[in-house]
Amino acid sequence: MEWWMSMPKVELHAHLNGSIRGSTLLELARALWDKGLIDFSQVEHVILKNDHMTVTRIANEVVEDFASEKVVYLELRTTPKKNDSQGMSKRSYVEAVLEGIRSVSSVDVALIPYTEDPRNLLESPATNDKCDGNSRKKIFVRLLLSADRRETTEATMETVKLALEMRHLGVVGIDLSGNPKVGKWYVNLSRTLA
Ligand SMILES: [Zn+2]
Repeated sequence: MEWWMSMPKVELHAHLNGSIRGSTLLELARALWDKGLIDFSQVEHVILKNDHMTVTRIANEVVEDFASEKVVYLELRTTPKKNDSQGMSKRSYVEAVLEGIRSVSSVDVALIPYTEDPRNLLESPATNDKCDGNSRKKIFVRLLLSADRRETTEATMETVKLALEMRHLGVVGIDLSGNPKVGKWYVNLSRTLA
């Protein structure tokens, strides 16, 4: 196990909300449960009921945790969430995620824009050797926005446009998620794009 932990790793498909730190998930679920907002069979809905600060915290911890397992390159994907009760739009959700990634302090984070060829990153060392002899870990992070097949074409287009607009901030692409047998937006979407 120690050997595995010490190896530099590349993570190409991590679900942001599937990677929530266990202790954080319990803490958030307990707080929502105390308010009567969820019961424990709905722990997976924790993320849907939380505010920007929590989204930022989750993203921050997820990057920290991957870095602590010596992941040096991380592609995170997440479905932008709209939550009127929290004044949350898809855009503000993604901004909160990016804020969390940027605010990691235990490790140097490089949010890589879409223009950068990941092969160039291989040249960069995963550890920065500082003059004082201390070395700090470094992790390269990229974000993909996910469109759930249950969404309407309109909602999906909103996510696609958001990804395009935020491509200089570390958003590099679109991920398709959910049940592949559900919905037909891909037909409508290809028509819209054509
Ligand atoms: Zn997936």
